[in-house]
Amino acid sequence: MAIPTSEEISAILGQIQDPQIHRGMNELRMIRSVDVEGVDVRIVVALMIEGSRLDGYYLEVIPAKLRDRWPELGAIDVELTSMTESERESVVANVRKETPAPFGDEDSRTNVIAIGSGKGGVGKSTTTVNLAASLAALGHSVGLVDADVWGFSVPRMLGVDDKPTVVADTIMPPEAFGVKVVSIGLFTTEDNPVMWRGPMLHKALEQFLSDVHWDDPDYLLVDLPPGTGDVSMSIAQFLPGAGMIIVTTPQAVAEKVAQRAGFMAEKTGLKVRGVVENMSYFRGNDGVVYDIFGSGGGATLAKRLGVPLLGTIPIDPKLRQLADNGTPIVLGAPDSEVAQALETTAKEIVNLLPPKPKRARRVSLPLMGGS
Ligand code: ADP
Repeated sequence: MAIPTSEEISAILGQIQDPQIHRGMNELRMIRSVDVEGVDVRIVVALMIEGSRLDGYYLEVIPAKLRDRWPELGAIDVELTSMTESERESVVANVRKETPAPFGDEDSRTNVIAIGSGKGGVGKSTTTVNLAASLAALGHSVGLVDADVWGFSVPRMLGVDDKPTVVADTIMPPEAFGVKVVSIGLFTTEDNPVMWRGPMLHKALEQFLSDVHWDDPDYLLVDLPPGTGDVSMSIAQFLPGAGMIIVTTPQAVAEKVAQRAGFMAEKTGLKVRGVVENMSYFRGNDGVVYDIFGSGGGATLAKRLGVPLLGTIPIDPKLRQLADNGTPIVLGAPDSEVAQALETTAKEIVNLLPPKPKRARRVSLPLMGGS
Protein backbone atom coordinates (compact mmCIF):
# COMPACT_ATOMS: atom_id res chain seq x y z
CA MET A 1 0.00 0.00 0.00
CA ALA A 2 1.52 3.31 -1.05
CA ILE A 3 0.95 6.15 1.36
CA PRO A 4 1.86 9.48 -0.22
CA THR A 5 4.34 11.90 1.23
CA SER A 6 3.22 15.36 2.27
CA GLU A 7 4.96 16.77 -0.82
CA GLU A 8 2.98 14.48 -3.10
CA ILE A 9 -0.23 15.51 -1.38
CA SER A 10 0.65 19.21 -1.69
CA ALA A 11 1.32 18.77 -5.38
CA ILE A 12 -2.08 17.18 -5.98
CA LEU A 13 -3.91 19.72 -3.85
CA GLY A 14 -2.06 22.51 -5.59
CA GLN A 15 -3.97 21.71 -8.76
CA ILE A 16 -7.35 22.40 -7.15
CA GLN A 17 -8.59 25.64 -8.63
CA ASP A 18 -10.11 28.34 -6.50
CA PRO A 19 -13.61 28.76 -7.95
CA GLN A 20 -13.51 32.51 -7.59
CA ILE A 21 -9.99 33.37 -8.71
CA HIS A 22 -9.45 30.45 -11.08
CA ARG A 23 -5.93 29.73 -9.89
CA GLY A 24 -4.50 26.64 -8.26
CA MET A 25 -4.18 26.39 -4.47
CA ASN A 26 -0.40 26.30 -4.71
CA GLU A 27 -0.24 29.42 -6.78
CA LEU A 28 -2.51 31.13 -4.27
CA ARG A 29 -0.32 29.87 -1.44
CA MET A 30 -3.30 28.41 0.34
CA ILE A 31 -1.70 25.23 1.63
CA ARG A 32 -0.28 25.94 5.07
CA SER A 33 0.74 22.48 6.09
CA VAL A 34 0.31 18.82 5.25
CA ASP A 35 1.05 16.23 7.93
CA VAL A 36 0.94 12.53 7.26
CA GLU A 37 0.73 10.21 10.26
CA GLY A 38 0.39 6.57 9.38
CA VAL A 39 -2.54 6.49 6.96
CA ASP A 40 -4.07 9.69 8.31
CA VAL A 41 -3.58 13.15 6.85
CA ARG A 42 -4.05 16.53 8.38
CA ILE A 43 -4.12 19.60 6.15
CA VAL A 44 -4.29 23.25 7.09
CA VAL A 45 -5.59 25.55 4.39
CA ALA A 46 -5.48 29.33 4.53
CA LEU A 47 -8.43 30.97 2.79
CA MET A 48 -8.42 34.50 1.46
CA ILE A 49 -11.54 35.12 3.47
CA GLU A 50 -12.91 32.64 5.95
CA GLY A 51 -16.62 32.24 6.40
CA SER A 52 -17.57 32.65 2.75
CA ARG A 53 -19.42 30.05 0.71
CA LEU A 54 -16.01 28.74 -0.38
CA ASP A 55 -15.44 27.13 3.04
CA GLY A 56 -17.79 24.30 2.20
CA TYR A 57 -16.24 23.92 -1.20
CA TYR A 58 -12.76 23.26 0.13
CA LEU A 59 -13.98 21.02 2.96
CA GLU A 60 -15.62 18.85 0.34
CA VAL A 61 -13.23 18.97 -2.57
CA ILE A 62 -9.96 18.36 -0.70
CA PRO A 63 -10.83 14.98 0.86
CA ALA A 64 -12.57 13.94 -2.36
CA LYS A 65 -9.53 14.74 -4.47
CA LEU A 66 -7.16 12.88 -2.13
CA ARG A 67 -9.40 9.84 -1.73
CA ASP A 68 -9.77 9.64 -5.45
CA ARG A 69 -6.00 9.60 -5.87
CA TRP A 70 -5.12 7.45 -2.83
CA PRO A 71 -8.12 5.34 -1.78
CA GLU A 72 -6.04 3.70 0.95
CA LEU A 73 -5.77 6.90 3.01
CA GLY A 74 -7.41 6.88 6.44
CA ALA A 75 -8.81 10.01 8.08
CA ILE A 76 -8.43 13.20 6.09
CA ASP A 77 -8.74 16.15 8.38
CA VAL A 78 -8.99 19.60 6.81
CA GLU A 79 -8.65 22.68 8.95
CA LEU A 80 -9.49 26.08 7.52
CA THR A 81 -7.84 29.26 8.61
CA SER A 82 -7.53 32.78 7.18
CA MET A 83 -4.65 34.46 5.46
CA THR A 84 -3.25 37.51 7.14
CA GLU A 85 -3.96 40.85 5.51
CA SER A 86 -0.44 41.06 4.11
CA GLU A 87 -0.55 37.50 2.72
CA ARG A 88 -3.83 38.32 1.04
CA GLU A 89 -2.44 41.49 -0.44
CA SER A 90 0.63 39.79 -1.83
CA VAL A 91 -1.35 36.94 -3.38
CA VAL A 92 -3.85 39.31 -4.98
CA ALA A 93 -1.10 41.63 -6.17
CA ASN A 94 0.59 38.69 -7.85
CA VAL A 95 -2.58 37.46 -9.51
CA ARG A 96 -3.34 40.95 -10.75
CA LYS A 97 0.18 41.43 -12.05
CA GLU A 98 -0.49 38.67 -14.56
CA THR A 99 -3.35 40.53 -16.17
CA PRO A 100 -2.18 44.08 -16.05
CA ALA A 101 -3.62 45.57 -19.23
CA PRO A 102 -6.74 47.49 -18.35
CA PHE A 103 -9.49 47.07 -20.91
CA GLY A 104 -8.80 50.46 -22.46
CA ASP A 105 -5.17 49.63 -23.25
CA GLU A 106 -4.12 48.86 -26.76
CA ASP A 107 -2.78 45.44 -25.86
CA SER A 108 -5.87 44.37 -23.91
CA ARG A 109 -7.15 41.19 -25.47
CA THR A 110 -10.72 41.62 -24.29
CA ASN A 111 -13.44 42.53 -26.76
CA VAL A 112 -15.46 45.12 -24.90
CA ILE A 113 -19.02 45.45 -26.16
CA ALA A 114 -21.40 48.01 -24.72
CA ILE A 115 -25.05 47.18 -25.25
CA GLY A 116 -27.30 50.18 -25.58
CA SER A 117 -30.78 51.16 -26.65
CA GLY A 118 -32.65 54.34 -27.45
CA LYS A 119 -35.26 53.83 -24.78
CA GLY A 120 -36.05 51.53 -21.88
CA GLY A 121 -38.13 48.40 -22.07
CA VAL A 122 -36.92 47.12 -25.44
CA GLY A 123 -35.27 44.13 -23.79
CA LYS A 124 -31.71 45.40 -23.74
CA SER A 125 -30.82 43.81 -20.39
CA THR A 126 -32.58 40.56 -21.23
CA THR A 127 -30.65 40.40 -24.48
CA THR A 128 -27.36 41.25 -22.78
CA VAL A 129 -27.74 38.59 -20.11
CA ASN A 130 -28.64 35.93 -22.66
CA LEU A 131 -25.83 36.87 -25.00
CA ALA A 132 -23.39 36.70 -22.10
CA ALA A 133 -24.64 33.27 -21.03
CA SER A 134 -24.61 32.09 -24.61
CA LEU A 135 -21.03 33.26 -25.20
CA ALA A 136 -19.99 31.47 -22.00
CA ALA A 137 -21.81 28.30 -23.11
CA LEU A 138 -19.90 28.48 -26.39
CA GLY A 139 -16.72 28.21 -24.35
CA HIS A 140 -15.65 31.84 -24.09
CA SER A 141 -14.71 33.64 -20.89
CA VAL A 142 -17.17 36.42 -20.24
CA GLY A 143 -17.54 39.37 -17.89
CA LEU A 144 -20.67 41.46 -17.58
CA VAL A 145 -20.85 44.97 -16.17
CA ASP A 146 -24.34 46.12 -15.35
CA ALA A 147 -23.99 49.85 -15.88
CA ASP A 148 -27.74 50.38 -16.18
CA VAL A 149 -27.55 52.19 -12.87
CA TRP A 150 -31.16 53.27 -12.65
CA GLY A 151 -32.77 50.17 -14.02
CA PHE A 152 -30.32 47.51 -12.95
CA SER A 153 -31.87 44.11 -13.44
CA VAL A 154 -28.92 41.95 -14.41
CA PRO A 155 -28.35 40.39 -10.94
CA ARG A 156 -31.98 39.25 -10.78
CA MET A 157 -31.92 37.89 -14.32
CA LEU A 158 -28.83 35.84 -13.48
CA GLY A 159 -30.06 34.85 -10.03
CA VAL A 160 -27.06 36.47 -8.37
CA ASP A 161 -27.58 38.02 -5.00
CA ASP A 162 -24.40 37.41 -3.07
CA LYS A 163 -22.36 40.49 -2.38
CA PRO A 164 -19.02 40.48 -4.19
CA THR A 165 -16.08 39.56 -1.98
CA VAL A 166 -13.56 42.32 -1.63
CA VAL A 167 -9.99 41.15 -1.11
CA ALA A 168 -7.21 43.68 -0.69
CA ASP A 169 -9.11 46.37 -2.59
CA THR A 170 -9.95 43.97 -5.39
CA ILE A 171 -13.55 43.01 -6.05
CA MET A 172 -14.03 39.30 -6.74
CA PRO A 173 -17.09 39.21 -8.97
CA PRO A 174 -19.76 36.57 -8.38
CA GLU A 175 -20.19 34.15 -11.23
CA ALA A 176 -23.37 32.68 -12.70
CA PHE A 177 -23.65 30.39 -15.71
CA GLY A 178 -19.96 31.01 -16.41
CA VAL A 179 -20.45 34.78 -16.49
CA LYS A 180 -18.63 37.02 -14.02
CA VAL A 181 -20.94 39.82 -13.10
CA VAL A 182 -20.69 43.15 -11.36
CA SER A 183 -23.63 45.47 -10.89
CA ILE A 184 -24.48 48.53 -8.90
CA GLY A 185 -27.33 46.29 -7.82
CA LEU A 186 -24.91 44.10 -5.88
CA PHE A 187 -23.91 47.05 -3.72
CA THR A 188 -27.40 48.30 -3.01
CA THR A 189 -30.87 46.78 -2.75
CA GLU A 190 -33.67 46.90 -5.29
CA ASP A 191 -35.94 48.90 -2.99
CA ASN A 192 -33.23 51.16 -1.66
CA PRO A 193 -31.85 52.86 -4.75
CA VAL A 194 -28.76 54.99 -4.61
CA MET A 195 -29.01 58.47 -6.09
CA TRP A 196 -26.13 58.19 -8.51
CA ARG A 197 -24.91 61.48 -9.84
CA GLY A 198 -22.41 62.09 -12.61
CA PRO A 199 -19.08 62.10 -10.76
CA MET A 200 -20.06 59.24 -8.43
CA LEU A 201 -21.20 57.21 -11.36
CA HIS A 202 -18.02 57.86 -13.24
CA LYS A 203 -16.01 56.70 -10.22
CA ALA A 204 -18.15 53.58 -9.75
CA LEU A 205 -17.74 52.61 -13.38
CA GLU A 206 -14.03 53.18 -13.21
CA GLN A 207 -13.90 50.83 -10.22
CA PHE A 208 -15.95 48.22 -12.05
CA LEU A 209 -13.48 48.28 -14.89
CA SER A 210 -10.23 48.51 -12.97
CA ASP A 211 -10.72 47.11 -9.46
CA VAL A 212 -12.58 43.95 -10.37
CA HIS A 213 -10.71 40.70 -10.90
CA TRP A 214 -12.09 40.07 -14.40
CA ASP A 215 -9.14 37.85 -15.26
CA ASP A 216 -8.60 38.75 -18.87
CA PRO A 217 -11.91 37.60 -20.37
CA ASP A 218 -12.56 37.07 -24.09
CA TYR A 219 -15.61 39.32 -23.88
CA LEU A 220 -16.73 42.03 -21.52
CA LEU A 221 -20.34 43.09 -22.07
CA VAL A 222 -21.51 46.37 -20.60
CA ASP A 223 -25.25 46.86 -20.15
CA LEU A 224 -25.72 50.62 -20.63
CA PRO A 225 -28.66 52.64 -19.39
CA PRO A 226 -31.09 53.56 -22.19
CA GLY A 227 -30.46 56.69 -24.19
CA THR A 228 -27.21 58.46 -24.15
CA GLY A 229 -25.51 60.36 -21.45
CA ASP A 230 -23.07 60.27 -18.62
CA VAL A 231 -22.60 56.55 -18.53
CA SER A 232 -21.93 56.11 -22.24
CA MET A 233 -19.52 59.00 -22.14
CA SER A 234 -17.67 57.54 -19.16
CA ILE A 235 -17.50 54.15 -20.84
CA ALA A 236 -16.19 55.70 -24.05
CA GLN A 237 -13.58 57.56 -22.06
CA PHE A 238 -12.40 54.53 -20.08
CA LEU A 239 -12.63 52.17 -23.04
CA PRO A 240 -11.71 53.98 -26.21
CA GLY A 241 -11.70 50.74 -28.22
CA ALA A 242 -15.12 49.54 -27.08
CA GLY A 243 -17.72 48.49 -29.60
CA MET A 244 -21.43 48.97 -29.19
CA ILE A 245 -24.45 46.91 -30.10
CA ILE A 246 -27.82 48.61 -30.22
CA VAL A 247 -30.99 46.78 -29.27
CA THR A 248 -34.20 48.02 -30.82
CA THR A 249 -37.74 46.82 -31.47
CA PRO A 250 -39.10 46.62 -35.02
CA GLN A 251 -41.21 49.72 -34.50
CA ALA A 252 -40.33 52.75 -36.63
CA VAL A 253 -40.39 55.22 -33.72
CA ALA A 254 -38.23 52.98 -31.57
CA GLU A 255 -35.79 52.59 -34.40
CA LYS A 256 -35.55 56.40 -34.79
CA VAL A 257 -34.77 56.82 -31.09
CA ALA A 258 -32.23 54.01 -31.32
CA GLN A 259 -30.63 55.69 -34.29
CA ARG A 260 -30.14 58.85 -32.26
CA ALA A 261 -28.49 56.77 -29.54
CA GLY A 262 -26.24 55.21 -32.17
CA PHE A 263 -25.14 58.54 -33.62
CA MET A 264 -24.56 59.95 -30.15
CA ALA A 265 -22.52 56.94 -29.15
CA GLU A 266 -20.28 57.40 -32.16
CA LYS A 267 -19.79 61.03 -31.14
CA THR A 268 -18.61 59.94 -27.72
CA GLY A 269 -16.20 57.48 -29.32
CA LEU A 270 -18.03 54.15 -29.01
CA LYS A 271 -17.99 52.38 -32.34
CA VAL A 272 -21.36 50.89 -33.26
CA ARG A 273 -20.76 47.33 -34.49
CA GLY A 274 -24.21 45.94 -34.97
CA VAL A 275 -27.91 45.96 -34.25
CA VAL A 276 -30.11 43.36 -32.56
CA GLU A 277 -33.84 43.53 -33.12
CA ASN A 278 -35.79 42.24 -30.12
CA MET A 279 -39.51 41.48 -29.87
CA SER A 280 -39.41 40.98 -33.63
CA TYR A 281 -42.51 38.81 -33.85
CA PHE A 282 -44.66 36.38 -31.94
CA ARG A 283 -45.37 32.90 -33.21
CA GLY A 284 -48.64 31.54 -31.88
CA ASN A 285 -49.29 27.89 -31.10
CA ASP A 286 -51.00 27.73 -34.50
CA GLY A 287 -47.65 28.60 -36.10
CA VAL A 288 -48.94 31.93 -37.37
CA VAL A 289 -46.50 34.82 -37.01
CA TYR A 290 -47.77 38.11 -35.60
CA ASP A 291 -45.80 41.33 -36.04
CA ILE A 292 -46.83 42.78 -32.71
CA PHE A 293 -44.51 45.78 -32.86
CA GLY A 294 -44.43 46.23 -36.63
CA SER A 295 -41.55 45.02 -38.72
CA GLY A 296 -38.30 46.01 -40.30
CA GLY A 297 -37.00 48.45 -37.67
CA GLY A 298 -33.82 46.49 -36.96
CA ALA A 299 -32.87 46.12 -40.60
CA THR A 300 -33.57 49.79 -41.33
CA LEU A 301 -31.51 50.91 -38.35
CA ALA A 302 -28.62 48.61 -39.27
CA LYS A 303 -28.64 49.98 -42.80
CA ARG A 304 -28.68 53.59 -41.64
CA LEU A 305 -25.80 52.99 -39.25
CA GLY A 306 -23.93 50.94 -41.85
CA VAL A 307 -23.58 47.91 -39.57
CA PRO A 308 -24.89 44.33 -39.70
CA LEU A 309 -28.18 43.19 -38.22
CA LEU A 310 -26.83 40.54 -35.85
CA GLY A 311 -30.09 38.92 -34.88
CA THR A 312 -33.87 39.08 -34.66
CA ILE A 313 -35.30 37.78 -31.40
CA PRO A 314 -38.96 36.77 -31.20
CA ILE A 315 -41.31 37.46 -28.32
CA ASP A 316 -41.76 34.58 -25.94
CA PRO A 317 -43.39 34.87 -22.51
CA LYS A 318 -41.09 32.07 -21.34
CA LEU A 319 -38.13 34.40 -21.83
CA ARG A 320 -39.61 36.82 -19.31
CA GLN A 321 -40.68 34.10 -16.88
CA LEU A 322 -37.24 32.51 -16.86
CA ALA A 323 -35.50 35.89 -16.58
CA ASP A 324 -37.70 36.77 -13.60
CA ASN A 325 -36.53 33.55 -11.96
CA GLY A 326 -32.86 34.08 -12.63
CA THR A 327 -32.29 31.76 -15.59
CA PRO A 328 -31.28 32.89 -19.07
CA ILE A 329 -33.55 31.20 -21.62
CA VAL A 330 -30.53 30.09 -23.66
CA LEU A 331 -29.89 27.65 -20.78
CA GLY A 332 -33.41 27.25 -19.39
CA ALA A 333 -35.07 26.34 -22.70
CA PRO A 334 -32.23 26.01 -25.20
CA ASP A 335 -34.39 24.46 -27.92
CA SER A 336 -36.94 27.26 -28.01
CA GLU A 337 -37.03 29.52 -31.04
CA VAL A 338 -36.04 32.53 -28.97
CA ALA A 339 -33.04 30.72 -27.41
CA GLN A 340 -31.91 29.60 -30.84
CA ALA A 341 -32.18 33.17 -32.13
CA LEU A 342 -30.10 34.42 -29.20
CA GLU A 343 -27.47 31.74 -29.74
CA THR A 344 -27.27 32.62 -33.44
CA THR A 345 -26.79 36.26 -32.44
CA ALA A 346 -23.99 35.28 -30.02
CA LYS A 347 -22.29 33.36 -32.84
CA GLU A 348 -22.62 36.38 -35.13
CA ILE A 349 -20.85 38.44 -32.47
CA VAL A 350 -18.04 35.88 -32.31
CA ASN A 351 -17.71 36.03 -36.11
CA LEU A 352 -17.64 39.79 -36.05
CA LEU A 353 -15.28 40.08 -33.08
CA PRO A 354 -13.36 36.82 -32.73
CA PRO A 355 -11.65 36.23 -29.39
CA LYS A 356 -8.03 37.32 -29.37
CA PRO A 357 -5.29 34.84 -28.50
CA LYS A 358 -4.66 34.21 -24.83
CA ARG A 359 -1.64 35.86 -23.34
CA ALA A 360 0.98 33.80 -21.62
CA ARG A 361 0.69 34.23 -17.90
CA ARG A 362 3.69 36.23 -16.82
CA VAL A 363 4.18 35.53 -13.15
CA SER A 364 4.10 32.28 -11.34
CA LEU A 365 4.44 32.11 -7.63
CA PRO A 366 6.85 29.77 -5.87
CA LEU A 367 5.26 26.53 -4.86
CA MET A 368 4.39 26.17 -1.24
CA GLY A 369 3.86 22.79 0.18
CA GLY A 370 5.05 20.31 2.69
CA SER A 371 4.94 21.03 6.36
P1 ADP B 1 -34.52 47.07 -21.02
O1 ADP B 1 -33.23 46.59 -20.48
O2 ADP B 1 -34.44 47.49 -22.45
O3 ADP B 1 -35.17 48.13 -20.18
P2 ADP B 1 -35.57 44.50 -20.21
O4 ADP B 1 -34.54 43.59 -20.69
O5 ADP B 1 -35.62 44.83 -18.76
O6 ADP B 1 -35.56 45.86 -21.05
O7 ADP B 1 -36.96 43.91 -20.71
C1 ADP B 1 -38.20 44.54 -20.41
C2 ADP B 1 -39.25 43.45 -20.15
O8 ADP B 1 -39.54 42.77 -21.38
C3 ADP B 1 -38.78 42.39 -19.19
O9 ADP B 1 -39.86 42.03 -18.39
C4 ADP B 1 -38.35 41.24 -20.09
O10 ADP B 1 -38.51 40.00 -19.45
C5 ADP B 1 -39.32 41.38 -21.24
N1 ADP B 1 -38.76 40.91 -22.52
C6 ADP B 1 -37.65 41.36 -23.14
N2 ADP B 1 -37.46 40.74 -24.33
C7 ADP B 1 -38.50 39.87 -24.48
C8 ADP B 1 -38.88 38.93 -25.50
N3 ADP B 1 -38.18 38.79 -26.60
N4 ADP B 1 -40.00 38.21 -25.28
C9 ADP B 1 -40.74 38.36 -24.14
N5 ADP B 1 -40.44 39.21 -23.17
C10 ADP B 1 -39.33 39.98 -23.31
